[in-house]
Amino acid sequence: MTVDSALRSPVNYSPAGKDVKALRFIEEMTRNVDFVQKKVIREILSRNSETEYLKRFGLKGFTDRKTFKSKVPVVTYDDLKPEIQRIANGDRSMILSSHPITEFLTSSGTSAGERKLMPTIDEDMDRRQLLYSLLMPVMNLYVPGLDKGKALYFLFVKAESKTPGGLPARPVLTSYYKSEQFKRRPYDPYNVYTSPNEAILCPDSSQSMYSQMLCGLLMRHEVLRLGAVFASGLLRAIGFLQTNWKELADDISTGTLSSRISDPAIKESMSKILTKPDQELADFITSVCCQDNWEGIITKIWPNTKYLDVIVTGAMAQYIPMLEYYSGGLPMACTMYASSESYFGINMKPICKPSEVSYTIMPNMAYFEFLPHEVATEQSELVELADVEVGKEYELVITTYAGLNRYRVGDILQVTGFYNYAPQFKFVRRKNVLLSIESDKTDEAELQRAVENASVLLGEKGTRVIEYTSYAETKTIPGHYVIYWELLVKDQTKPPSDEVMAQCCLEMEESLNSVYRQSRVADKSIGPLEIRVVKNGTFEELMDYAISRGASINQYKVPRCVSFTPITELLDSRVVSTHFSPALPHWSPERRR
Ligand code: AMP
Repeated sequence: MTVDSALRSPVNYSPAGKDVKALRFIEEMTRNVDFVQKKVIREILSRNSETEYLKRFGLKGFTDRKTFKSKVPVVTYDDLKPEIQRIANGDRSMILSSHPITEFLTSSGTSAGERKLMPTIDEDMDRRQLLYSLLMPVMNLYVPGLDKGKALYFLFVKAESKTPGGLPARPVLTSYYKSEQFKRRPYDPYNVYTSPNEAILCPDSSQSMYSQMLCGLLMRHEVLRLGAVFASGLLRAIGFLQTNWKELADDISTGTLSSRISDPAIKESMSKILTKPDQELADFITSVCCQDNWEGIITKIWPNTKYLDVIVTGAMAQYIPMLEYYSGGLPMACTMYASSESYFGINMKPICKPSEVSYTIMPNMAYFEFLPHEVATEQSELVELADVEVGKEYELVITTYAGLNRYRVGDILQVTGFYNYAPQFKFVRRKNVLLSIESDKTDEAELQRAVENASVLLGEKGTRVIEYTSYAETKTIPGHYVIYWELLVKDQTKPPSDEVMAQCCLEMEESLNSVYRQSRVADKSIGPLEIRVVKNGTFEELMDYAISRGASINQYKVPRCVSFTPITELLDSRVVSTHFSPALPHWSPERRR
């Protein structure tokens, strides 16, 4: 097959069969970016021309980009909320899309504390499936022989709910794992998982994790790659092994499944995998896991692992050192860039350093526009996918088949180069995210409100929070939020008790958005929030430090989140007391109306 030189395998692998088809598709898409984009917007506008939303802007049947851009405004989620709410309440008229909205995908981005609801239509599943189908053909160019073993992926479903109008509302991956496309996927030697579907589909995250880990241990020599969607998920699995290896080794030694597994479907599927005692394996697990030093544990337990399949770009970059530690420096492959709004693109060089990861947007997924970031004003012209410039940063704006029109995703991307004519993007950051441990995204306003609500509990004693900042503590598993407080204590003889401070921690958690609380309660992927009270004058010192490094005294503002080590060290050296949330905050899958 003839493919672009960049797609030639550096390991002399000759693609065959399905891979050739997929690689040809990538070639076709990336060579004809502008043509495909023109076609996509034409298709979207012609099929959605009779929707209430588009009719409002008087497109009069035009389907070209120029007219679209001149008439239809760029919007955020809050602009679309009335329409989304009507659909959620059961209005089946053509509001955003001419095709019926079949479910809402609940984004980890929130609005008023609740997950944003992204409309989706039936055929979107095929678009997502198409992007998935491109991943292994690209990976095979770099890592041959992946058909000779299995993938240990820790995959989970999350709780779902129904909108008042009866549409399912659930995260995109939950929707995908529960789909027939996933459950009844045809056998593919390149995509054989150690986890049975029943374990992935169990809504109890602890039973799901336990059985997935057990399968991974039982098939340890067959495992060729290890992964989770995000780095935090893989580390959570390592943390789980740290606390549960004895029970797992016990199951392996006796050949019987722990009584903690009550899910009948998991029990049934595990009965075919855990069929007999294996004392040798149990002894091995015990000898490796009982050691204090877990450096390189992944390669010890799974010696044939060629790479980790996890996203370590964006907020997940904070986990790279820990993954390096546990894996003894295995490559980390970030294969794709996607969201609930739409799937976007793939990494054409998946085995590269995390700092070099770039994603190539596939122009058939949606219509993409780019808002120049550095100089963004109300009048800024949005740039076409084919016209972005290397080195520049842009905010991603998309128009989808399901009815988002010129929607600001909130991701900031930088152009690093081109693959054929398709730009490649480094994920720079998500706008307005201050703190993130997992999929939670806490912004400055949410943190401010949480501090305000919590400090009410100090009120009657006349104690006030005079300054605060925060830090995402990710060296522990699971990570947790640390909030530094400097207090003004009116009556020095009566500083707030530990009990009051612990209640302040819990009150802060109660005030944070539902994605944070879900991670705390259902997924247990975030640990209890911690308040560290610092000595009086600490924030003054922080300012002195910033000024000594060149900050302007007039413009200095207390950073509401810190990560620079000298600053966290300074804060930690001034801590007078630490307090943890004593309980779980409230959370339920039902949305607040
Ligand atoms: P959600 O809507 O909850 O599915 O989250 C989608 C968001 O996750 C995207 O808009 C990005 O901010 C982030 N994200 C997804 N894929 C990646 C990636 N490969 N690297 C960095 N961030 C990502």
